[in-house]
Amino acid sequence: MLTTAPRGTKDILPRDVEAWRYLERTMREICAQYGYLEIRTPVFEHTELFLRGIGETTDVVEKEMYTFTDRGERSLTLRPENTASAVRSYVENKMYADPAPTKLFYIGPMFRYDRPQAGRYRQFHQFGVEALGVEGPNIDAEIILLAVQILQTLGLKDLKLKVNSVGCPKCRPLHREKLQEYFRPHLGEMCKDCQSRFDRNPLRLLDCKNPHDQELAAGAPSLEECLCEECKAHFEGLKELLTAAGVDYVVDHNLVRGLDYYTKTAFEIQYAPLGAQSAVCGGGRYDGLIEEIGGPATPGIGFAMGMERVLLAIESQNLLPQFDNSIDVFVVCPGSANFTLAFKEAIALRREGLKVEFDFLGRSMKAQMKQANRLAAKYVLILGEDEVARGCAVLRNMSTSEQTEIPIQDITSILKTEVQSHE
Ligand code: AMP
Repeated sequence: MLTTAPRGTKDILPRDVEAWRYLERTMREICAQYGYLEIRTPVFEHTELFLRGIGETTDVVEKEMYTFTDRGERSLTLRPENTASAVRSYVENKMYADPAPTKLFYIGPMFRYDRPQAGRYRQFHQFGVEALGVEGPNIDAEIILLAVQILQTLGLKDLKLKVNSVGCPKCRPLHREKLQEYFRPHLGEMCKDCQSRFDRNPLRLLDCKNPHDQELAAGAPSLEECLCEECKAHFEGLKELLTAAGVDYVVDHNLVRGLDYYTKTAFEIQYAPLGAQSAVCGGGRYDGLIEEIGGPATPGIGFAMGMERVLLAIESQNLLPQFDNSIDVFVVCPGSANFTLAFKEAIALRREGLKVEFDFLGRSMKAQMKQANRLAAKYVLILGEDEVARGCAVLRNMSTSEQTEIPIQDITSILKTEVQSHE
């Protein structure tokens, strides 16, 4: 147990970190294009924030939170998502006093006591954005485009964008009644989760994963028929902007999302080859949330993208670029006689900004050359005893195998120029 990471968690090893950084870089660059600024909130929050902000009837709150009591007897929870925290910070830091919209993005680990499987973990990472302060569908369209642009920039094709409107507190009660009327006669045949949600949150019956219940849900009354004029106009406005931007989408009336605070727009982006965990991105509007957690009534919309799933998708399509992990110079120092000189030269080169390695273990010349090859060194600087005695070193260009003798006092200036011209 001591040598195994907890179930549902995993190490991101040095050989994988480059891919993560590439993903994060792409996300950051596109956020900059769209004017979204990064926010970093604490990894844990008061449990109450998630009870309020996510909703007590959701799977996340009912079954999946990592909640603990700290030494000061406070109930804290490792964040299962970042929207509630971002909104808490928006209110706490009075960002609503700034001109709207407030556009935020985040990247970081989230924690859910989920059943681990491919694409589903207990510690996973989300990239997400939140846009606060705008009521109209134009910002909904903007953040959907942002998500699509990121996935397309990473090279993913055949993405499926699903959109829906989940209505608002004005029109949902009518739909709720209709849903209950429709499901009531079948309740006995439905799963336990559906039975318990029937009264508390019947909308959730539409996204049950049980095949029998899914079949039933397919025939359920659509929310579309119940949408109020405002929600209808909002949804039409969004669809018009998506069409104008040339984004393909499908309307899926059963897309309800698991979280209670969603209003109007809900959307999901799927990447089918991922199989059971095909949702790479999900989001929607949450006009009631800011008030719910104690801020001034403010509209908001956001999404979260599962980083592990995006990575699985781009790896499966061989879309990761080649990363250059080569070093500039390996300083070879056979025997220990000249180690101090080798160390001094290596440090001087590093101070000039070069990537430099040398041998720490007093290995043989042959072993050091092998190590230089393994690190894909562009140059090898050999400080052999004979050369050093003459005040020289041997410089080997590893791509041409050319070797020249250079004076020790010129090592830094020559290598700096060589490495620059190599690039
Ligand atoms: P949610 O916050 O549940 O709307 O999820 C947003 C996105 O996060 C999903 O579309 C997934 O890509 C990802 N995600 C959610 N839960 C997990 C998990 N347990 N493991 C990995 N990715 C997840």
